[in-house]
Amino acid sequence: MTDTTAPSNFLDNIVREDLESGRVSEVVTRFPPEPNGYLHIGHAKSISVNFGLAERFGGRCNLRFDDTNPLKESQEYIESIQDDVAWLGYHWDGDVRYASSYFEQLYQWAQHLVRGGKAYVCDLSADETREYRGTLTEPGRNSPYRDRPVEENLALLEGMKNGEFDEGSRVLRAKIDMASPNMNMRDPTLYRIRKVAHHQTGDTWCIYPTYDFAHGQEDAIEGISHSVCTLEFEDHRPLYDWLIENLPVPSRPHQYEFGRLNPSYTVTSKRKLKQLVDEGLVSGWDDPRMPTISGMRRRGYSPAAIRRFCDMIGTTRSDGIVDVAMLEHAIRDDLNENAPRAMCVVDPLRVVLVNYPDDKVETITAAAHPSREDMGERELPFARELLIDRDDFREEANKKYKRLVLGKRVRLRNAYVIEAVDVERDSNGEISTVLCEVIEDTLGKDPADGVKPKGVIHWVSASHGVPVELRLYDRLFNVEAPDRGDEDFHHYLTPDSLLVTTAAVAEPGLAAATPEQSFQFEREGYFVADRFDHSAETPVFNKTIGLRDTWQRQDN
Ligand code: ATP
Ligand code: MG
Repeated sequence: MTDTTAPSNFLDNIVREDLESGRVSEVVTRFPPEPNGYLHIGHAKSISVNFGLAERFGGRCNLRFDDTNPLKESQEYIESIQDDVAWLGYHWDGDVRYASSYFEQLYQWAQHLVRGGKAYVCDLSADETREYRGTLTEPGRNSPYRDRPVEENLALLEGMKNGEFDEGSRVLRAKIDMASPNMNMRDPTLYRIRKVAHHQTGDTWCIYPTYDFAHGQEDAIEGISHSVCTLEFEDHRPLYDWLIENLPVPSRPHQYEFGRLNPSYTVTSKRKLKQLVDEGLVSGWDDPRMPTISGMRRRGYSPAAIRRFCDMIGTTRSDGIVDVAMLEHAIRDDLNENAPRAMCVVDPLRVVLVNYPDDKVETITAAAHPSREDMGERELPFARELLIDRDDFREEANKKYKRLVLGKRVRLRNAYVIEAVDVERDSNGEISTVLCEVIEDTLGKDPADGVKPKGVIHWVSASHGVPVELRLYDRLFNVEAPDRGDEDFHHYLTPDSLLVTTAAVAEPGLAAATPEQSFQFEREGYFVADRFDHSAETPVFNKTIGLRDTWQRQDN
């Protein structure tokens, strides 16, 4: 799956130069999620960057769980992450890898630093540590434990490992420079005591390495050539390099950073997405309104469209908000090309064709897609009683209204021209039925009398149509940056971002749709058969996206 259309970016240039100069002989990258939540659109970008580099340069990419913080991690997340990466269409090299499988090696390297006088056990409390650390404008102060003898440090480190000390009572720190202008170099923590079981290693460990101590060393173990991460790690790079230089690691990886993807009208932080789930504001991580990969999947976004979007926005060294309309554009383009057409009446109004025989049923064939003959045809039963959308009929209307009007004509999509002659009302005075005449011999032809219809509307046969449940989704948030600065995203949740209707009726073929199959419901939008809830007996479709971008219009 080499995508030659992907624009070249600064990382491609770095990799190309490294290959040309012989600094590396093979490109090896990795995608390193922490299994503390489901993957989101930002991770899709990171996946596309890391796997994409490997693909374009004939290298390989590992999937490595950065599982150094067992408190927030779980097997459920591990499984969902693998599913998501595979669903996006990427293949990791060999088996899935775990940071936790390197714990023994990391521990030995911690001892190595201690022996070399480059790490020490520190007994300052968290508050004291913060105070000693200084600020951006003031240097820090050395910990009173900084000059502990090597033997004492080794013994204490072992005691930490053996569970002899309480959580928070001690940590292992690198001995670097408390006056460094880079706060990450002020004797950063390498190991902390956490007396919790780990999903992979069980009770073997009660000390866990920090991200900083683990990440670069894992890269080195796996022979990663280009360790690509997001910009917030730029200030950690000197520490990444320091550790690599001071440890007997088997290879020399380098870290490169790119700007995070932040789509507008979206939050992309696992912590906040977890809040939405935990507080019941959505139905789960895979709620179709969620920017998670599993949410987008359930919403009807295809892997190809998501990958296309990731390519389209490029890879740069600046963080910024990307207009979510670009994502929606990629989704729409893909569906326009690949989704078969179907008719579904969302808010049905009965139409009776007064001059059409009671017992007659015609089978009309229509193309599944206007320009994709390979998609074949579908059959549409046509009978005396039809359903049209309530919005598509008016008793009176001006010229701009190109649908059915009393006394006027309209074409039924793929079928005949009809003319509205009368209405019937229910006891509340609401129109219950529109009585129409079929204009003879108008299948694929204009009426012989020359009175052409102005518009085309969709329809289904009342007795053949299948009732379907539609789940109509809107953007979850109603402002561009729902979590900018200290903003509480709760204030910006779109009210009624999910509307469910069970009144809709669709052309009969839709009952046979398979879960996750997408359609364009003509004139209504793109819909997908729900991955979990759809069946032939109870068809359920999720609205993926409208036919065009109407969001700004609604907004104003
Ligand atoms: P979050 O902030 O959502 O919790 P994270 O960065 O903590 O995300 P990780 O599991 O550590 O999540 O991320 C795995 C990889 O995905 C990292 O390399 C990270 O830089 C990258 N990544 C995470 N969010 C984004 C984003 N919005 N855009 C691009 N890459 C991202
Ligand atoms: Mg992280």
